[in-house]
Amino acid sequence: MKLYLVGHDYRYAIEQAIVSFLNRKAVLCQDIPQDDAEDLLISTLSYGDKYLTGTAELVLNGRKYRKAARAQIKGMDTDEERINREQHVLKTSVFKAAKEATGTEFPWGSLTGVRPTKLVLRMLESGHTRDSAEKELVSRYFLSPKRAKLALEAATHSLDVKRRLSENEISLYVGIPFCPSRCAYCSFVSSETGKSGHLIEPYLEMLSEEIKQRGMLAKDLGLKVKSVYIGGGTPTTLSAAQLDRLMYSIARAFDLDSLAEYTVEAGRPDTITVEKLRVIRSNGAGRISINPQSMSGEVLRINRRPHTPEDVLRAFEQARECGFECINMDTIAGLPGDSVEGFRTTLLRLGQLRPENLTVHTLALKRGSDLAAGSTLEKQDSDVMAMLDFALEFLYNNGYRPYYLYRQKYMAASLENTGWTLPGRESIYNICIMEEFQTILSVGAGGVTKLVGRDGKRILRVANNKFPAEYIRSGMKIDSDNRTIRSFYR
Ligand code: SF4
Repeated sequence: MKLYLVGHDYRYAIEQAIVSFLNRKAVLCQDIPQDDAEDLLISTLSYGDKYLTGTAELVLNGRKYRKAARAQIKGMDTDEERINREQHVLKTSVFKAAKEATGTEFPWGSLTGVRPTKLVLRMLESGHTRDSAEKELVSRYFLSPKRAKLALEAATHSLDVKRRLSENEISLYVGIPFCPSRCAYCSFVSSETGKSGHLIEPYLEMLSEEIKQRGMLAKDLGLKVKSVYIGGGTPTTLSAAQLDRLMYSIARAFDLDSLAEYTVEAGRPDTITVEKLRVIRSNGAGRISINPQSMSGEVLRINRRPHTPEDVLRAFEQARECGFECINMDTIAGLPGDSVEGFRTTLLRLGQLRPENLTVHTLALKRGSDLAAGSTLEKQDSDVMAMLDFALEFLYNNGYRPYYLYRQKYMAASLENTGWTLPGRESIYNICIMEEFQTILSVGAGGVTKLVGRDGKRILRVANNKFPAEYIRSGMKIDSDNRTIRSFYR
């Protein structure tokens, strides 16, 4: 779709809005055509005496839709407030035009960002009550009542966790970017062991060096680790001995006296063995993720997950026997081959296991996945909506509550990913990474350290090399990144 901006330069915000509402990419153009032959959007910002107005003229399949939204100029005293109001009227006008053109109800209304809870947190921290925040989400941002409630509950959970964090605490992420094979929908940087297995040992050596250096730095800066998350990839691709070495190096390097949560994302059930579970547990991890994605053997086969639903049940039982008291299970709504009924069955079967955390993702066709190559979302938006609506009702009725959520581009029906928890079992790490409440030190290939200033506003990202082979060669970068981290904390 061609995009024309008049009177403003909020290209990114409008592009995001187009992707969210129309699931299309936008190409910024200069000279507005005189006819309505092509699909296009003209987004205009204008100022009057009392109001600023955003206007969207949308041409879709030969028909023209024109919508406007306005806000008061009064009270627009800071640059931040001006930008907020300008973007709000522009995105709202695009939302209204898209809604009329497509006849679609957008569950997240005019919100286009990936973290809707950030807005709700701002509301709650600036004095809104839960009631007034919920009303504003529906009336000003056009959220459906269900999504307003979801965002509000997740934000309330996040706020509870935020109050329990101390200033000198951080979280640690350790990346293991290896998997035994690649799932069809995967867009992560993860190397298949068949091709890259020879890199695992040199990778672990480099990782152990980075852990040691970052640990010394953290101790030097007086930083204590509140949560550890070993993710990937699939960390349980490593052997039990390799896991043991890795976890020992973490315990030796960092101050874990304040540790409240230690997660290992086992992920694929086909990589989980009792021996590995025992090693993980004995090294202090109490939370583990076992990810079925679906409990249909056929859906797993279509999506190239080389495990069965029975493997999931076996791994879950073994994890309980090994003493894991907090187990997370991931599911995906909208997988190729799945149906509303199939997804319901998946949730019913997982619900019987009563994992402490259940994460419900919506399939997103992200760059880098085999599914995205030459494909469009296969499922009808209405099917995916029905899956998530079922999840919402089922999980509420079974005592789960939403505790973090986020959205992504190219997501079916422009919906969301939600982490659900039984009372008091929410993951600190997931909330901290989503809401940027504290520094997350990331080690390993593809890791992005996110430094969060004491005011909670200053944020600096420091990225590691993306791929294992580059990372193994990147010895010098550890030193320069350490200098960046040190000067951030000065
Ligand atoms: S297990 Fe996860 S990281 Fe590994 S290939 Fe599948 S989706 Fe990607």
